[in-house]
Amino acid sequence: MFLQRSAVALARRAAVAPALRRTLATTAVRRNQVPERKFKSLSEVKTDEDLIGPGAQPGTVPTDLEQATGLERLEILGKTEGVDVFDMRPLDASRKGTLDNPIPVRGVGQEQYAGCTGYPADSHIVVWLRMTRDDPIERCPECGSVYKYNYVGPEDDGHHHHHHVEPEYPEPKTWADYLKPEYKWA
Ligand SMILES: [Zn+2]
Repeated sequence: MFLQRSAVALARRAAVAPALRRTLATTAVRRNQVPERKFKSLSEVKTDEDLIGPGAQPGTVPTDLEQATGLERLEILGKTEGVDVFDMRPLDASRKGTLDNPIPVRGVGQEQYAGCTGYPADSHIVVWLRMTRDDPIERCPECGSVYKYNYVGPEDDGHHHHHHVEPEYPEPKTWADYLKPEYKWA
């Protein structure tokens, strides 16, 4: 009786097993067939959501391309297509900036610092110059090279008011502040 029941159970298991095995196998295949997790390329990025990486496949260590998000992801996507998203090139040092033809300094903030080392480059120690959107022209006190802030950030919202952000440290007054404006850069 005991043996018989065992045999029946065995047979039942045998009958069930192949199906079970097939199910498992199918599942495994299906899991492998999950299409490569897609991610947006640089040109497809439209919203913040598009800058979320697909993550790593289970059991693997994520690469930067898989896990980076936000601005870092934007930069990496750019690099894969040869686009220098943040324009990390050094400033133009092939000439000395003049008032008529200043060295452009791109930025997206209310203010931007640039380090001048003179012309030819490295002919004086670095002098940091601060430019703002309101006061974009700055002249190096060491060599006289002129720089101009070229704001390339988002446009102000349609509310007309210039969204003025007070710098953390207001610029100290100098005699230049008491000159007539038209003399300032003469
Ligand atoms: Zn200089």
